[in-house]
Formats: sequence, structure tokens, C-alpha cells
Amino acid sequence: MTKYIFITGGVVSSLGKGIVAASLGSILESRKLSVSLIKLDPYINVDPGTMSPSQHGEVFVTYDGAETDLDLGHYERFVNYKTGRASNYTTGQIYDSVLRRERKGEYLGSTVQVIPHITDEIILNIKKGSFDKDICIVEIGGTVGDIESLPFIEAIRQMGVEYGRDLVSYIHLTLVPYIKAANEIKTKPTQHSVKEIRSIGIQPDVLVCRSERMISVDDKKKIALFTNVEAKAVINSIDVEDIYEVPLLLHEQGLDDIIVEKLNLSCDKASLKDWLNYKNKRNDIKNKINIKIIAKYANYTESYKSLNEAIKHAGVHSGVDVDIEYVDAEKLEGNDFSVLENAGGIIVPGGFGDRGIEGKINAVKFARENNVPFLGICLGMQAAVIEFSRNVCKLKNANSTEFNKKCNYPVIALIEEWLDKKGSVEYRDKNSNIGGTMRLGEQECIIKKGSNIYKAYEAEAIFERHRHRYEFNNDYRDSLEKKGLIISGTSTDQTLVEVIELKGHSWFVGCQFHPEFTSKPTTGHPLFKAFVKEIRDKK
Ligand code: GLN
Repeated sequence: MTKYIFITGGVVSSLGKGIVAASLGSILESRKLSVSLIKLDPYINVDPGTMSPSQHGEVFVTYDGAETDLDLGHYERFVNYKTGRASNYTTGQIYDSVLRRERKGEYLGSTVQVIPHITDEIILNIKKGSFDKDICIVEIGGTVGDIESLPFIEAIRQMGVEYGRDLVSYIHLTLVPYIKAANEIKTKPTQHSVKEIRSIGIQPDVLVCRSERMISVDDKKKIALFTNVEAKAVINSIDVEDIYEVPLLLHEQGLDDIIVEKLNLSCDKASLKDWLNYKNKRNDIKNKINIKIIAKYANYTESYKSLNEAIKHAGVHSGVDVDIEYVDAEKLEGNDFSVLENAGGIIVPGGFGDRGIEGKINAVKFARENNVPFLGICLGMQAAVIEFSRNVCKLKNANSTEFNKKCNYPVIALIEEWLDKKGSVEYRDKNSNIGGTMRLGEQECIIKKGSNIYKAYEAEAIFERHRHRYEFNNDYRDSLEKKGLIISGTSTDQTLVEVIELKGHSWFVGCQFHPEFTSKPTTGHPLFKAFVKEIRDKK
């Protein structure tokens, strides 16, 4: 039977609950326990797919095509478990299903209320998302005391009562601030936060205290006394240089042993050699390279969370520190490309909408003409196709129909726009197996031998995740190939172009999928490693 660990947060947001959840998951996996993870988000949106990345950060795409909170990305970078549609629930989703049931008359005339109907729905979904693993770690978004998170907290309280305390454990994250003037850390906010969660009926088993400095044994005792938590279960999570040190930090303080004891688990000892190996490699970095990312949200790098992490992982595994610089795409819409002159490599990442698109296309041109290693991801690949069509194939004003519905040469278009000309329409609507109007989630890609992408993956078939509506228009496949575009990856039936490269350029890869979602710190991602090594070794 699955045992649950619920992680709540208090005092302030952004304490890194997601990292603690993911780190604990990773340690428990190393103890040979199977682990699943769930994130509960208190906001009303049904999913974050339509939320602005500048407000909410990146939308993380799971293998099964769910558009989810970026915390799921953290989870997948730490654990082997693959999250999916059932790993992220928002208040909006919970209410949506309760209202649907109500309309169908499933509540048999009773008054539908937060308790028990909303809380029952939450519990049902937690159980569903646990996938019968040994351990299910559930992170509750927001801070205890917020109006929005109350039904979630109530639901997890009920689960503690229903299952009993050797099946359910609670970890509460708080802040222990350091006051410079007094040269002291302050435990009061933690005391208040635990008081708050206890008033709802939850007694935490473990406190993870975020602080700038180590908390002394005396302070731990004091916190323990005021919060009714054992002193050894007051864990210190000090600021670290690199988030991937958190599993080591938590394990050193015995967090996993406390959980194993509380939940009465029988399992192996932890083995954190992958994390140690990562740390050693990171400490051994000798050289530096730089990558310029041409982006719409140049000031909101949380919008490109997985991309930043994937580059960092590849750097560590290639022995280089990567200096990532975001360049505002709109600044490249004129004739001044001086900011690109010292670029080691250029990335045009994924994106939606036409803001800055001409600047992105100009950046592709710069990379192509100056033999700068280039990686175009999703929209970045589409920008590369547009650039090549315009400037090499002389298809004047070639474009994507996303940006110009009526252009003469729609080299990127919606699938129904280019297929229906041939009489075989494939509509991508909500009933098609591709999902919604977007191509979402993991799909297989067949790779051409000898290409740069083949050298990177060393495989003829790969699986990567998609999130886009538009596709390379097959009407232009032959003419572009004749001029030197290489189609080095396609869908299994070869109808969709997945990867493009350029003849005569040392490393120019555009992929329709998002490789950044599957990069792990402990191994690095093959495509990013190949890109980074190309920059590192370029003469
Ligand atoms: N806007 C483009 C499309 O929908 C690219 C999307 C993306 O880069 N994720 O096809």
C-alpha cells in the first residue's frame, strides 16, 4: 500500500518545496523504494498552459502531453519517475470535475460543498496520481494560511486520519531568517507557521528550515520545543550554490532515515553516488564558454527554466562553465548584430506569437553565415526554416502562417493548411489522437545516420516531447533540400519533419521537439552535450 509524504510551506513562498520534494524522492529511490510525485496548485486556472510564462514561469510538458507547472520539471530532473497528467492538479481542475459530476446528477440531490465534495475529489486525485508506488510525495503549492490552499490542506489532514500515521507523514518547510543587526537567527516565524498548520489539525513530523546560516543545536532544540517536533527532525536547508547539492545536504542530516523510521519502511541504505559524481564534475570545471539565447522573455529566465538547466547539465558533463546570456529578440530586428559577435553558440528557443520573430530570424542568419554553432528549438527550428527559405532559396517573405496567414510561401503552417491542398485533410482537433489543437507530449523521431543529431544521440530512433501547432510544410521539402537543407529527423511515418540541419555548416541543428524537458543533471542530455562540446572544441 502506498505511503504518503505531504510537503507544505509556511512563512513565505519560494522556499524551494519542489526541490526538497524532488531531493527526498531521489534519496528514497536510491534506497530502492518506488516513488511517485504530485504537485497540487491552489490557483483557479485549469492548467498553466495558457498562463503567461513571464508570470508563472515555464510550462513543463510531460511525456503524456500534459501542460503542467514547472515544479514537475524539477521532479523529473531529480528522480527516475516520469510524471504525467495525473501528477499535477489545480483548484480549477478539481472544481471543474466536481461541477461536471454535479451536472450529471452524480451527487444525488445533495448540497455540493467544499467539505466533503471538493476534499473528496482532491483525495481521489491524490490516490490516482500515486500510481500504487511505495511512496507518493505530494507538494502543496502556496503557503499555509492562504485562503486558496485551505481545501488541499484539509484533504491531506483527512488522509492522515483515514490512513493513520505510519502511512502518512507531513513535512513543513519554513524560513529561519538571519537578522544582521542582532547577529542572530530568528525562530519566531517558524513557530508561528507551525502554530498555523497545527490549528488546522496537522502536526508536522519534520521541519525543513531554510536559512542563510547553519542553525545551532540550541536553536534546533528551541524550535523543537515550540513546535512539538523532535529536535533531530528539525532539518536545516541552508542556501547552496547549486540546487543539485540538496539531496546530499538533506541526506547528511538524516532526513531519509527519519522518514523511513516514521513510515516504518524496510529498504536499502541510500546511495548518492550519482549526486557526488555530479558535484565532483562540477567542482572540476576548467573552461568557460558562452551561449546567447535569443528570446522574447529575456528578463524572465524562469520562462526558460528547463533550457537553462539542460545547458548547465551539459556544461558540467563537458567540463565547462556556460555563461548564458539572454538577448532580447526585438533588439535584433534592425541591422546591428554586434551583440552576437562574441557568441560561442546561439540558441533560438521555443515560443508563441510574433513578438521578436524577425530578430530571431536575423539571429539564425547570423549563425548560418558565420558558422556559429546553432540550436533551434521548436519555434527556433521554424525560424531557421523561414530564414533558409528567404535567404538561400529566395522565397521572398517566406513565413509561418502563425505570423502571416496570407504569405506567398507558407513554409511553416498548420497541418490542415498544407495537407488539404493534396486532398487528404488531417484535422488536428480535440478528437484527433494528437491531442487538442497542439501536438503535445512524447513522440518517436527517426534519425538519419551520419547527421549531427545522430552523432549526438548515437541512435536511430529517439523519443522527445512536443508542444506546438505549426509544422514544416511538406510542399517545400524538395526545394529546400535541393538547396542544402538536410532533413535529419522525421516522424515514424516520415510525414512530419522533426529535425533539420545545413550542408556546409559545422553544427546547425533545428528540432521541432523540446529536448530540454528530458535533461538530467546526473547524465546530461545528448543533444545539449553535443552542442556544448562543439562550442568548446571549436577552433
Ligand atoms: N508557435 C510555434 C507553434 O505553435 C512554436 C511553438 C513552440 O516553440 N513551442 O508551432
